[in-house]
Amino acid sequence: MELKHKYKPREEWGIEGYLCSDCQIEKTKEFAARPSEPDTCALCKQDLGDIAVKPRWQWNMEAGTLLCQPCFNKKEADYNKKLNFCALCGTKMGIIRYNPKPAWKVEGQLCRKCWDGRNSTKQQQ
Ligand SMILES: [Zn+2]
Ligand SMILES: [Zn+2]
Repeated sequence: MELKHKYKPREEWGIEGYLCSDCQIEKTKEFAARPSEPDTCALCKQDLGDIAVKPRWQWNMEAGTLLCQPCFNKKEADYNKKLNFCALCGTKMGIIRYNPKPAWKVEGQLCRKCWDGRNSTKQQQ
């Protein structure tokens, strides 16, 4: 149909030329309904700019979360620390490590000494 009023589509729609008002409204709705990619870091809330990094799935972060590079590095360091060091005494653990019981509310893993310590304390109570 002939365009009485021409509407310039938005750049992000990727449309060349012009739209009639009906199509303009349709497209606006369509794009508004789409979840937009976050443009700020989920941790420090700073603008991501061009460098946005997806967190690792092991970190259990919300789907669609994006991080800036410094936060990603920090998070990874934290995660590796949790993975390799005892959550209580900070000793570097070998291959053998122990998962704390849920009741202890300890995040991470424990060395044998701390696990035994926790376990016997709880039993005495
Ligand atoms: Zn950040
Ligand atoms: Zn320990």
